[in-house]
Amino acid sequence: MIFNYILKNGKLLYPEKTKTASIGIKDGKITLLSSLKGRQAEEFIDAEGCYLLPGLVDAHTHPVYADDLEHIACTAAFGGVTTMIHYLTVKSGQQPLQVCKNAISRGEKTSALDFAFHAALCDAERQAVHIPELIQSGISSFKMFTAYKKLNMMTDDYALAKAMDIIAAHKGMASVHAENGMVIDYLEEKLRASHKNMCSHFLTTSPSLLDREAIFRVLSIAALFGCPLFLPHVSSAKALDALKIARSEGIKVYTETCPHYLVFTWNELQEQCALGKIRPPVKTLEDREALWNALATGIIHTVGSDHAPKTKKITDDFDASPYGAPGVETILPLLWEFGVNKKRITPNKIVELTAENPAKIFGLYPAKGRLENGADADLVLFNPQRKWTISNKNQHSNAGYTLYEGRKCTGKVEKVFSRGRLIVDNDKYLGEPGRGRFLKTHIT
Ligand SMILES: [Zn+2]
Repeated sequence: MIFNYILKNGKLLYPEKTKTASIGIKDGKITLLSSLKGRQAEEFIDAEGCYLLPGLVDAHTHPVYADDLEHIACTAAFGGVTTMIHYLTVKSGQQPLQVCKNAISRGEKTSALDFAFHAALCDAERQAVHIPELIQSGISSFKMFTAYKKLNMMTDDYALAKAMDIIAAHKGMASVHAENGMVIDYLEEKLRASHKNMCSHFLTTSPSLLDREAIFRVLSIAALFGCPLFLPHVSSAKALDALKIARSEGIKVYTETCPHYLVFTWNELQEQCALGKIRPPVKTLEDREALWNALATGIIHTVGSDHAPKTKKITDDFDASPYGAPGVETILPLLWEFGVNKKRITPNKIVELTAENPAKIFGLYPAKGRLENGADADLVLFNPQRKWTISNKNQHSNAGYTLYEGRKCTGKVEKVFSRGRLIVDNDKYLGEPGRGRFLKTHIT
């Protein structure tokens, strides 16, 4: 047999080990090779001194702002992400199944990377009846919001209970943006009325006590119905208090944090004013350190980007600016620089958090998430010695900025394969729009 590629002498990363081996790629699948004797390939790539990681599975992307389904695949690929689980918003009055079918067909025509969807239900009480048909068509996780009443997206406890009851009965998973939005709205109004600076008082309007309250409430309702729960963007130490109780009681909950909560404190990020306006907000030094600790202890299971590239300028009015920032391209370099290089986590932990765990949680494993015989050849060649500086000039999102401008990193993605096809070769993008496949998620 002649392989399409053989990547030789790389250090292969797994959650539990690192091993030196070679990888053969043929027809989009991986074969692990302990010896190269007699092996033939159309192309040999020497990975000496580099790590080979499974392609990242980013379970938190929004392909509806500056980067659409086609373009988000490009910026993701440069960051070593090869699978995305996008949030698909179903607004009040829309037909959930139709919205999903349209998005799947758009993705199959334009995405260079494999993708799945979470359905974000803005009117869960009325839309809950459609949950079974969505699960049947391969969308098994349902986002709801305990915030954003003014944006017409909030789910009250009645609707949350109804949706979780149905989700649990049909073997899906709830994914909840858990902050106490009503209290936050009140605090914002009060601050506005007193003409205080909304940017420097961002944390006054979003005290982490409210994270804890909302997470505890959502966990409790989920536990009542036996509904598996995914909590995206955990951002504070107080949120972790609620998660520790859940763990001690054996409640089934999976959690995610995002690189911005691990890199910044609000004191630092507020210099970027509107660009750093993200919900939940980036919090304090104590919160940041508690999150790093939670990665190490397993209270947090995944790191996702929450890539929501809104086109904003640093001079924009903070209060009038939308929430969100780009991030899918910087997950891996930031975790490496601030985690591995600063000795907070191991390289093995990175593949656990960004590939194996999200693939398992959403039922994409073992095709995705691990360098194993027969798995999809989604992989990243990462050079841990390469020094570079993050800048909007070398990033590929259409957002027009990166929150990490000027951050120096040691460690860079050099090559990325998606189902056996080389799609990133240093600065070159070779992705092919429409080659990506829609992946059905399964919750076990
Ligand atoms: Zn999000």
